[in-house]
Order: sequence, then C-alpha cells, then structure tokens
Amino acid sequence: MPDRMWSLVEDLYPICRSITGDGVRATLARIERDLPAPLLVSEVPTGTQVLDWTVPNEWNIRDAYVARPDGTRVIDFGESNLHVVSYSAPIRERMSLAELRPHLYTLPELPDRIPYRTSYYAETWGFCLSQRALDALPDDDYEVSIDSTLAPGHLSYGELVLPGDDSAEVVFSTHVCHPSLADDNLSSIAVATALARDLASRPHRYTYRFVFAPGTIGTIAWLARNREVVPRIRAGLTLTCLGDGSPFTYKRTFGGTAEIDRAAALALRDSVPDHVEIDFYPFGYDERQYNSPGFRAPVGSLMRGRHGRFPEYHTSADSLEFISAANLAESLATMQAIVDVLEGNRTYANLAPEGEPQLGKRGLYGAIGGTDIPDLNLAMLWVLTLSDGEHDLISIADRSAMSWASIRGAAELLRDGGLLTGSDGDRT
Ligand code: ZN
Repeated sequence: MPDRMWSLVEDLYPICRSITGDGVRATLARIERDLPAPLLVSEVPTGTQVLDWTVPNEWNIRDAYVARPDGTRVIDFGESNLHVVSYSAPIRERMSLAELRPHLYTLPELPDRIPYRTSYYAETWGFCLSQRALDALPDDDYEVSIDSTLAPGHLSYGELVLPGDDSAEVVFSTHVCHPSLADDNLSSIAVATALARDLASRPHRYTYRFVFAPGTIGTIAWLARNREVVPRIRAGLTLTCLGDGSPFTYKRTFGGTAEIDRAAALALRDSVPDHVEIDFYPFGYDERQYNSPGFRAPVGSLMRGRHGRFPEYHTSADSLEFISAANLAESLATMQAIVDVLEGNRTYANLAPEGEPQLGKRGLYGAIGGTDIPDLNLAMLWVLTLSDGEHDLISIADRSAMSWASIRGAAELLRDGGLLTGSDGDRT
C-alpha cells in the first residue's frame, strides 16, 4: 500500500491545482483510480451562494512567463507552477523591471525558495521566484505573459461514501487546492485514499465519508449542500501534512471532549507516544468550517508538520524530497489505529456486577493460551470493574493505562463469555 500512496503523490505533484479549474478535476480523476468505488464529483456553478460565500469564477492556466527582449524566459511556469500567483488574471505586456517589481514575490529570508502565493478573491496578477533569481534580473524591459482564464465555470469537489452497519458517519476531509506542494495537500490525499481502500476491504460499523474539496470555499460548498448529513457526523478529522517527519499533532474539536478527541488521544498514546495534542483554534484548515457555531460537528485534525510552522511550508521546498513513503505508511497506520478505537468503542454493563465474577468456571481465567492479548487477566478485571453502563472502553483504557488492544480484546472475550451486555443498544 505505501508504494501505491507514493505513486499517487508522484502523479499528482506536477498538476497545477487551485480552488477551481481543470487541475482540481484532473486531481479528482487520478484519486478515483486508487479508490475502491467511483468518486462522486460535484460541480457547483460560479455565482452559487454557499453559506456566506459565493462560488468565484473558474481559473485555468495554460502558460506563463517573464522573458528578456530576446525571448529568453527568466521566469517560466513550465518549470514550476509555483511561479504564478494562483488565480492570476491574464496579461500580455512589455514593461520595465521597475513596473514589474510590485508583481514579484520572493522570500528574502529563504533566498533559494519560490514562495506559494494566491489571490483568489482580489483580481490581480503576479509571479513568485527565488530572491536569488530576482537579484540576478538585469534592469531591462521584459515581456510579461500569463495565459489564463478567469471566467464563469464551476467549483469541483469529490466525495466517497462507504456505508456501514450504522448510518452515523465518520468524515475524513482533505483539501485538494494546492499546486506542486507535496506535504501540504498531497500527503493527506494519499493517506485518505489508502484508508478508503482499506476500509472498503473489510466490514465496518460506521459509514465512512471521504471529502476531497478545495480549501475553505470547497468545504463550505460541501457543507451548504449537505446540511442534512452534518447531524449524522459522529466523528471526523481533517487530514493535513502527513508526509513529513515531524511527530504527530492532534488538534481537538471545538468542544475538546468528543469521542474523536478521546479516540485519537488513546490511539496516539499507544502508537506514537511522542505526539502532541493541542486545543481547537479557528485557523489552520477546514476544521474551522465543520466546528463553526452553525454546525459544531465533532471534527478534529491530524497532522505532522503544523500549519505555517515548518520552514518548508508554502514554499518550493515542500517537494517530493521533503516527504517519504515511510512517513505516509506511518500516518496510514496511525489513522487505522484511530479507526480501530472508534469501531471498537462500546459501553457495556457487567452482568455479574456484585463482587468479582468467577472467571475460572467460565474458562476465562488463566486459560488464555489461545490469545495474544497482553495482561489479559488484569484487563478483564478493569473492564468488569468499570462496565457499569457509564464508562466506555476508551475511558477504561485511559483509567487503567492499559493498551487499547488489551482492553478491547478483554471486553470481547467477556462479552462472548456472557459477562457483558451492550448498554447502548449494541450487541456486537
Ligand atoms: Zn496550505
């Protein structure tokens, strides 16, 4: 599976994505090739009101450059799509370096990198380049060309729903609007796609929905058109920056005590002890749309590199060299651990609650040769002690400081042995 994730990232990397346009469509089409079922793609027309926003004109670009009078390109979109400010209006003019300069963006403190810049909602044009390249430009006239169109069209997003036994949904949401940036965008697309394949290959309790939408406006459009889905969201995560080597960071939901907050904290405690947990704040990625007061959907965020906090962020250094297949595989495994907690979490009632049930006569004590559950006897005693109909298995794992695998395994043995019953209507 990791190789397939890597191939997806490699294929998506060169595509010039933005919040609308053929780059998004090509991206969704390539994602679909790796999904277990067709991607449902929605096309929302320019001018459509979505919550408090309006779908903008669609942007497409074919070529762009700044050239010397002899035709030599000194800035070339063909070399890197980061060279053009995303959503640049078309232009074809000859101008002096002094006239061109206000439209050039660099990172003086990181002089070898090309910055990533956008101007979605204020019509303008511009080029991004390294400070070194700018410093090397002679004072001359330049041919400036951006062959783009900004015209009525559509905003595209895709989603995949994997129905489960329960109509309650777990939503994983990732943005699909960044051009050639590997960690910030492509890594989370790859992990989400691999997780969808994995979930489709086995039975699951919850309905899983994967949303691949352009940042902000795309998720807002999805929410505007799926208001009836929101109350069914039992848990969710936005997935971002999952390919770099930073420790995992889990950002909690607005409320901070949702099941996903507890499930993620437990899975991370067990699998990546050096992780970080942070409280919700209304910036970062689209968790702020899901958690807004009108929705308050319990959607946290899983990331490695944190939004705006690593030096490669939104620069040409966020390249394929910055991420690795091993990091993607580790991120997928972490997502699977979180899903395992959500899938297995139950609230049970002990059917022999007065005193300690005699496990031996039920073949449950000391005769556990057939399982590989660590500390099983102690885990069973913790589950029996806390199964009063009020503590779910996550809270039992927390209180006992035992692994999720032990607590879940113990609970399943006790349930199968007739000592536990689901108090939340669950029999399985
Ligand atoms: Zn970004």
